[in-house]
Amino acid sequence: MTAQDPHSASPDLAGLRDVRERLARAADDCDRDPAGITLVCVSKTFPAEAIEPVLAAGERVFGENRVQEAQRKWPELRARYPDLELHLIGPLQTNKAREAVQLFDVIETLDRIKLAEVLAAEMARAGKHPKLYVEVNTGAEPQKAGVLPADADAFIRDCRERLGLTIDGLMCIPPEDQQRSPHFALLAQIAKRNAIPVLSMGMSADFELAVQLGATHVRVGSAIFGKRPPLVSE
Ligand SMILES: *Cc1c(COP(=O)(O)O)cnc(C)c1O
Repeated sequence: MTAQDPHSASPDLAGLRDVRERLARAADDCDRDPAGITLVCVSKTFPAEAIEPVLAAGERVFGENRVQEAQRKWPELRARYPDLELHLIGPLQTNKAREAVQLFDVIETLDRIKLAEVLAAEMARAGKHPKLYVEVNTGAEPQKAGVLPADADAFIRDCRERLGLTIDGLMCIPPEDQQRSPHFALLAQIAKRNAIPVLSMGMSADFELAVQLGATHVRVGSAIFGKRPPLVSE
């Protein structure tokens, strides 16, 4: 075995290669330009040593779901890969808004007006403007974060007109036990009628379908990095 052997370098890269192929095929199947679809590598729970080979393989867009975990892992990696783009994909508490604005290039989980107000103030104070996606609770699940579909237009308008925020995208996590397509289609409709260019939808199990329904960003974790250890709360 040599150090150049790509198959033995790291099992993680086999996952990455597979995801890249699936993504290219999905784009091809619906005549979309693969360049219009961004792979967000979801590295939550994985240590820097697992992330490093994926960076070395050329990926630059990563998703984390916790501010504190990202703070521990990313400053050092960013120093070596200054062109990387870090997305927050987990719920954000208002008392962590300051750190989130400092750390992330994109906050995908804007889900309530109080958070929008705090982020607007913090972004003005810091002079740093991460992109904002509104999370929509397409399945209206009571335990899940996100703006209800029926409230989305008014929420986006309030963010734009009253708070002066730019809303770059929409994000959703469909209910686990349901067909995904109606949820992806609903998100796409809300984006279209609000002239929002980015659609963050689709994960390891369903990103091909999301691409078919217009995803511009797919958030893929386990298919790249392997199975995550069970979640413990922070
Ligand atoms: C963990 C997570 C993902 C990735 O899920 P996989 O099934 O591992 O691909 C995507 N989006 C969000 C919001 C997540 O929390």
